[in-house]
Amino acid sequence: MELSKESAPDFPDYVTLRHLNKDHENYVVVNWCVGNTCNYSCSYCPSGLHDGSVKWPDFSTIARFCRSVVDHHPGKKVYFEFTGGEITLWKDFSKLAEVLFLMGCRVGIISNGSRSHQFYEKLIPMIDHVCLSYHPESAKPDHFLKTVQMCAKEIRTHVNFMMHPDFFLENLDLAYKVKEIPNISIAIQPLTKEMGEELFDYTDTQRKVINSQNAFLARQIQHDKAFEYYRGAMEMHKPDGETIKMSPQRFISSGNNSWKGWHCYAGVEQIVVDMKGDIFRGWCLEGGSIGNIRDENLELPSQPVLCSKSYCHCNLDIMTTKTQGQLPVYEPAEVPVEL
Ligand code: SF4
Ligand code: SF4
Repeated sequence: MELSKESAPDFPDYVTLRHLNKDHENYVVVNWCVGNTCNYSCSYCPSGLHDGSVKWPDFSTIARFCRSVVDHHPGKKVYFEFTGGEITLWKDFSKLAEVLFLMGCRVGIISNGSRSHQFYEKLIPMIDHVCLSYHPESAKPDHFLKTVQMCAKEIRTHVNFMMHPDFFLENLDLAYKVKEIPNISIAIQPLTKEMGEELFDYTDTQRKVINSQNAFLARQIQHDKAFEYYRGAMEMHKPDGETIKMSPQRFISSGNNSWKGWHCYAGVEQIVVDMKGDIFRGWCLEGGSIGNIRDENLELPSQPVLCSKSYCHCNLDIMTTKTQGQLPVYEPAEVPVEL
């Protein structure tokens, strides 16, 4: 099938999108929004994301579903990435993390960093990645700073600062302290109202600070450890072997995030689960629901899906193999290094 100019104006001759790091093909990512219970009530967060109206699922249901995902992907590493509300509030989360650790899975969480330091101390050995988000209306700076320090010593740690305009300077002050912690990644995040499309009213200075953040934050971090990554930059391939490297953000910002009519491996390399337990190939919802985590005879996909969406909006969805025809055969991959 020909790639139309309308679907990818700057890449008319490219036929395949693959992971730049070939080891990433060995990971299946399960991105899972488990519930909407949170101990914060941030003004920019729609109530449906934190009001506790959806009960946490029962442990045995979740454990059975996780087992079925692992069994469906023999020889692959399965990376479960959990979000909430605030996932660490689920009473069974530590138990689940331990079960997944014993099954050889990788586990990542997005957390507001508010649980006790004893809680994180026990959890850290069983997980591989944490994304800690600082929400200035409720978070306590000293507590958050110590949480980041504890996590960064042991696991891959990303820190986000939610840049509400009224808390801009306080956030920056803490971000300057956090950037001294080695081996983290860090970002100050512009916010949209109710997490919609309209940005908060930032001053010109605040916009400049956000736009120039890499120079004074991310590039200042010292690194002396290499943590394992499971997703990253992608590579567009031409049939003659020519390639171009692209990040998901660059696909989106350049308007080249359309693969309509391509075969997409969402559902094979990744699945997503919403807070009702419904399972989809990606957050684009292409192909509709695959089933629910409560289904006892769930059939997960093994084949790619034909993309019918005009645009691919979500970073995770973009970081999935896509092709117009046969996938090219790679040279034998180097044996992945276990970290
Ligand atoms: S911490 Fe996250 S989930 Fe909780 S209210 Fe704030 S934005 Fe919403
Ligand atoms: S929109 Fe969905 S099906 Fe289409 S390319 Fe993106 S992830 Fe794949």
